[in-house]
This record gives sequence, structure tokens and C-alpha cells, in this order.
Amino acid sequence: MTTAEGHRPVDLTMDKTARELRIEWAGGGKSVYGFDYLAAMCPCANCREKRAEMENNPLRVVSDELGPAELGDASMVGRYALSITWQAGCASGIYSFDYLRSIDPGNLGEAGEGS
Ligand SMILES: [Zn+2]
Repeated sequence: MTTAEGHRPVDLTMDKTARELRIEWAGGGKSVYGFDYLAAMCPCANCREKRAEMENNPLRVVSDELGPAELGDASMVGRYALSITWQAGCASGIYSFDYLRSIDPGNLGEAGEGS
């Protein structure tokens, strides 16, 4: 168990209508992740490598061939992570709650108290 107590979710909502994942944390606070953002931040080895490659290459080829990220499936992996499958995208993303905490779009950089 490496997940800190505050990084444990008490409530997880995969909202297919709003196309966002909402997490309420045991340590207080909420995080909201758009599906597109989540799909783009897939933590599997393949996607990590692709992102690293893109960071090292100044040339950007932007395309939306995958279209908007549609949720395929989501399930808990033990107590520490969420497995998310994207319909047109990657199907091997295991999003640990520590990772989700670290990519919280509302909480990047300075820890501000949003509402
Ligand atoms: Zn992936």
C-alpha cells in the first residue's frame, strides 16, 4: 500500500453525460477530470513513451483522428487505482489515485483552494 490516506477516494463518479470523472477525496477536496484530458494523460507505458517523444520533438502534428474520448469501461483495481478503457483510444490505462491526484487539472502548480 503506497497510497496515502488523503489520496483515497470516498466517491467516484464517471459521468458519461458531462464526459468527466469526479472524485471526492478522503482527505477533503474534489477533483474533476474531462474525459479528453484523462485519455490524453493515459499512464500506460505506451502512452507515456509517446508523450515523452512529443516533448523531445519540437514538431507538433496535431490531429483529432480519435475524436472526443468516449468512455468504454471503468473499474476499480484493488483499492489504489482505476482502470479506464477508451473506446477509440488506449485500453490499458491504470490510473492510480496518486497519479490522478498529481494530474488534477484544478490543482496543478500551487495548491489553491478552488470551490
Ligand atoms: Zn495508454
